[in-house]
Amino acid sequence: MDPVSSDLLKWYDANRRVLPWRENPNVYWVWISEVMLQQTRVDTGLQYFGRFIERFPTVQHLAEAPLDDVLTLWSGLGYYSRARNLHKAAQMVADVGEFPRDLKGLRELPGVGEYMAAAIASIALGLDEATVDGNIARVMARLHADLGPRKAMWGHARTHLPKGRAGDYNQALMDLGATVCTPRGPKCDGCPVRSHCSGLRTGTPTQFPAAKAKKRVPTVPMNLTVYVQRDAVWVGRRPASGLWAGLWAFPEAKDADGRQIGGFEHVLSHKRLAVNVWVSEGPPPAPDPDWSGFAWVRPVELENRGISALTAKCLKLFQDERPSRGDNHSLA
Ligand code: SF4
Repeated sequence: MDPVSSDLLKWYDANRRVLPWRENPNVYWVWISEVMLQQTRVDTGLQYFGRFIERFPTVQHLAEAPLDDVLTLWSGLGYYSRARNLHKAAQMVADVGEFPRDLKGLRELPGVGEYMAAAIASIALGLDEATVDGNIARVMARLHADLGPRKAMWGHARTHLPKGRAGDYNQALMDLGATVCTPRGPKCDGCPVRSHCSGLRTGTPTQFPAAKAKKRVPTVPMNLTVYVQRDAVWVGRRPASGLWAGLWAFPEAKDADGRQIGGFEHVLSHKRLAVNVWVSEGPPPAPDPDWSGFAWVRPVELENRGISALTAKCLKLFQDERPSRGDNHSLA
């Protein structure tokens, strides 16, 4: 066996993180975990995973569920297109009656890219496929002292691939990147592949991979108004496509309305929102024709609807400001 994968797998067998989808690596569980863990920390993903599998124990349950239920369970995880793709893909799988059994078929599912297809194929299907996510790319760049592009890291990852244990190899690299070969402070003294690491031999392993040019993200102001009537607030459903598609939200206005109760910054991948939150007891504006389902709801009821992390922050501001209403359950 390749000496890198041999040392890596010995370490993995003794130190691997115990995670439910590893104990039962069926395609459905591995797929859900991979989608959830994109842009999400493992400890957060674990909580969502448990609730998700309890509510949708099989791909058929997920396919038959209303999209609203899926979005509600996804509330707070962000990147809601992932949840919509999951739902769409589950319906495709349920129509066929089983998951695809190869890379090509997996890639045809909405939301499944090159990384995820190879991860599922190796972990759940036992196929000899290497994969590269951010963690693995960093480990490979350091191991090979390579400042080259991500594509080159796929080549490196394949050179060490142990036939018959690709799933463990990929997960070992993910664990190594997450816990030992971390971005800023790699723990090289305790690293199982240190004797093979060219980056370590340069004396400055953190120079690999090459730093990405920092993207400047614009800051955009946003005014959200919580319209109140007795114990209810006015919410509507955002359009079916675009940012926060299909989620419930407070109306946005170019000009502020009412009294400002606070503000916060909310960072998205492509912009930073400077959010100002207002409360008004006046009549809500005419419904936006692209939105739907406007309704007066008690704040606690919003918990049972899909809302974004941004809406949850607004709601918390509103509830903190009005504790006397007895409706100050936090969604944060
Ligand atoms: Fe990363 Fe250090 Fe291990 Fe090299 S020796 S792979 S830099 S942790």
